[in-house]
Formats: sequence, C-alpha cells, structure tokens
Amino acid sequence: AAKAKGRDTLALYDEELDRVARERRDIETDLREVLARDQLHLHYQPVIDLDSGEVAGYEALLRWYHPKRGIVTPDDFLEVAEETGMIVPIGEWVIRQALAETGQWEGNFRIAINLSPTQVRSPHLADVVAQAIHAHGIAPHRVEFEITEHVLMQNSDLCEGNLAKLRELGTKVALDDFGIGYSSLSYLRRFPFDRIKIDKDFVEGIEASADNQAIVSSITRLADALGMAATAEGVETRAQLDLLRKLGCQEAQGYLICQPVPGENFATPAAVQAAMQGDASGILDYRK
Ligand code: C2E
Ligand code: MG
Ligand code: MG
Ligand code: MG
Repeated sequence: AAKAKGRDTLALYDEELDRVARERRDIETDLREVLARDQLHLHYQPVIDLDSGEVAGYEALLRWYHPKRGIVTPDDFLEVAEETGMIVPIGEWVIRQALAETGQWEGNFRIAINLSPTQVRSPHLADVVAQAIHAHGIAPHRVEFEITEHVLMQNSDLCEGNLAKLRELGTKVALDDFGIGYSSLSYLRRFPFDRIKIDKDFVEGIEASADNQAIVSSITRLADALGMAATAEGVETRAQLDLLRKLGCQEAQGYLICQPVPGENFATPAAVQAAMQGDASGILDYRK
C-alpha cells in the first residue's frame, strides 16, 4: 500500500510538472505575438512628495491584456520574456510608449521606467532612450530608470557602459527594491544612483516593528549622506505614511495613495484629483 501511495504521489508530481511546463510554453507562444497584437498596456502609479503632498512622478508598470487570461501582471511573464530575449523589444516599446503617453499630460512630474538586466545589456538602449526623449520633447532629467541589484550582479561592461550613457543623456537612475538583495550596500558604491527605492518588505508592518523602523530610518539617512533621494514603496496605510515621513523619507508610493491605473487618469489635474484616493471629503491631503 505504501508503494502504491508513493506511485500516486509521483504521478501527481509529474502532472504538476507537466502543467507548469505547458503553462510556460503557452505564455512563451502568446508572448511572441504580444506586440503585433497590441496587447501590452502601461498602467501608472503616482509617487507623492511627503512635504507638499503633490505628485512628484509616475511609475510606468507593464500590463498584458490577454484575451483569455485577463490582465496579466509582470511577475507572470517577465521571467519568460527575459529568458527568451523578448524583453528587449518589449522594453523598447515600454520606453517609447511611456514617453509618448506622459508627454501629453499636463504638469511637471518625473516619469519612472523599470529596466530588466537583459535590457540594460542591450547595445541599443541609450539610442532608443535618446530618440524617444527627443521625439516627445521631454526634458531628460524628468526621466528616471529603475534597476534592481540583479542588473549590477551581472558585472558586465555593457551594463555599466549603458548606465553611464543614460547618465550622459541627463536621465536619472534609481536603485529599486533596495534592501532585500544580498549585498545592496555594495552596489551603492558601484554606481552614483539618484534615488533609492525602499522595498515594500520594510514598509509592511512598519507600525508594529521597531526593527523595520530602524532599517527605514537608516536607509533614509544613508541616502541623504550619499546625496540620493529616498522613496518608499508599497504604502498601504495612513499610519505607514506618517511614520515614513517622520523617519525622513521624502516620497511615497502605494495603494493608499493610488493603485497603478491606465494613463488617462492622469492627463489633466482634474483627472488626477479624481483618481487619487483622497479622504472622506474627497480632497487629497497627504501633507503633514
Ligand atoms: P517594482 O518596480 O518594484 O514595482 C512595484 C510593484 O509593487 C508593482 O507591481 C506595483 O503594482 C506594486 N505595488 C504598488 N503599490 C503597492 C502596495 O501598496 N502594496 C503592494 N503589495 N504592492 C504594491 P507590478 O506592477 O506587478 O510589477 C512587478 C515588478 O515587475 C516591478 O516591481 C518591476 O520590477 C517589474 N516591471 C513592471 N513593469 C515593468 C516594465 O515595464 N519593464 C520591466 N523590465 N520590468 C517591469
Ligand atoms: Mg520599480
Ligand atoms: Mg520596487
Ligand atoms: Mg519588485
């Protein structure tokens, strides 16, 4: 009986492996057509300044409007896109699309765009960026690229060269998901980042965790000492927001303020006001 049970468990395990492999193959096949079929869209999430309460910028976040699966988020397809190299044309589309869309909006805000490791190694990156900035008449200092330490772990000359070129163009570079990697601190010495984005892991439960408060406060002071700005990600409660401000964080982003939503929500000041989750009076007020 024990043997039979073992065989059943193995059979189930095989089925699960089959299912995962099939799923991956399906994603890969569908992904090949994604640009031709116009299924990619950008959502944007506002980042607010904790002193003024104003929108400091918007982060572009990729969404796949899949005909059968619905809206698919990057965690479910970026890995396949990276492994197959499809991230390069997809990423170039993101850069062009983000600048084309936000270039139409009113206001003076930063545009944040995520870059994956393969993109940062791509030889055309700086040309694509230069061309898109020029085409839409966007001041380079308003554009900020977000990379994680995975990009720098590759230790390749192409990466460092591309980051330097982005800097020469006048665009900014931020270190995303700071603090959760293996050696985040050492990467701060490798490249002069403009900003550190404090990972949501440290924001979650910060109200109840003296450790998380100490970590966030250290990161903001470190950023300050290195001449970098600090933005907290994943802010979901007002208590977290107030605490982050108290701990010296300049900017915040998270569901409390606004979910990532399509760009039409931010095209005019009135639309922005309506999109942001204000208090009961409907008035947006995240000031002190
Ligand atoms: P990220 O750059 O760290 O983006 C923040 C993620 O946190 C986003 O997930 C966002 O929707 C989510 N988020 C925002 N506020 C909250 C909150 O209050 N609570 C929680 N729990 N989550 C929040 P998303 O959009 O699923 O993106 C996941 C990751 O995929 C991004 O992490 C980024 O690394 C990558 N990504 C997204 N768009 C692109 C892109 O266009 N190109 C590349 N290469 N990577 C992208
Ligand atoms: Mg990011
Ligand atoms: Mg992040
Ligand atoms: Mg992340």
